[in-house]
Amino acid sequence: MEKKIGFIGLGVMGKSMAGHILDAGYELYVYNRTRAKADELVSRGAVWCSSPAELASKSDIIITIVGYPEDVRQVYLGENGIAGAISEGKIAIDMTTTRPSLMLEIDSVLREKKAFFADAPVSGGDKGAREASLSVMAGCDEEVFRLIRPVLSVMGKSISWCGPVSMGQQTKMCNQIVIAGTMIGVSEALVYAAKCGLDVEAMVNTIRPGAAGCWTLDNLAPRVIRGDFEPGFMIEHFIKDMGLALEEAERMELCLPGLALVKQLYTALKAQGLGRKGTQALVKALESICRESFF
Ligand code: NAP
Repeated sequence: MEKKIGFIGLGVMGKSMAGHILDAGYELYVYNRTRAKADELVSRGAVWCSSPAELASKSDIIITIVGYPEDVRQVYLGENGIAGAISEGKIAIDMTTTRPSLMLEIDSVLREKKAFFADAPVSGGDKGAREASLSVMAGCDEEVFRLIRPVLSVMGKSISWCGPVSMGQQTKMCNQIVIAGTMIGVSEALVYAAKCGLDVEAMVNTIRPGAAGCWTLDNLAPRVIRGDFEPGFMIEHFIKDMGLALEEAERMELCLPGLALVKQLYTALKAQGLGRKGTQALVKALESICRESFF
């Protein structure tokens, strides 16, 4: 039943993730807005489908990882979308970081077709996707989790059940709140080190094993030091995630000032034309506020 996997969204994350599914021996069906991004997978044996609906009709498990909530809405609920073609007993898994309430909406549409739905956003970045070491946060019925766990394990190392549909996204919101904090902390330390004349790389290597150690310091600080501001994780996507978390916080009448500050700084970077750079470019916002240039 689980042998035919459909995969929609072959960007920075999806292309590597779909590749692992192919390597694991599943039959793979693929669809992406820009067809050329599927070429390599097709040359390795994946089958191109001309719409989400065609892919849904051919696959037992459908996985999506597109960009924004409106993209998720389109591939599921839009014309030629998954919801129109999915049939009884099939499972769809959305791994995009998106709006929790949209997950509930899609779940109720798919339930009417007697199909199953899970939200399963990921953490671990482009590196985690390439190395199949992602952390996956699943929101679904426990029985559905048991069924999808094997295929999720092909893409990730830590596969967690977070509760019913939408709770994977809520866990991912917590993840992004932590990342916002570590991003600003690491960026400020890098600028501070450069300004006071430290060897910045040596500073990073010195503090990494201690209490300051984190993924951002390990993976993004080295990119800043070598002047690499390509994504990785795009600023536009992070602004989307922080906006979703702040939207949820507002709904719950919760005040998250640290998150709001970091979102403002990234919004300034987007206004400066850096929206499609990697999140490590946060140092550029600090540099421009301080009228300094180190990286
Ligand atoms: P990306 O490189 O922009 O990939 C998104 C892919 O989805 C693109 O290939 C895009 O097509 C495709 N797509 C968008 N709308 C579509 C539609 N309606 N129909 C078919 N395909 C569609 O983004 P990414 O970095 O892989 O991120 C994907 C998601 O994962 C985002 O929600 C992001 O927040 C989340 N995420 C990213 C990271 C990271 O480090 N990159 C980490 C964790 C989570 P085109 O090729 O035409 O653009």
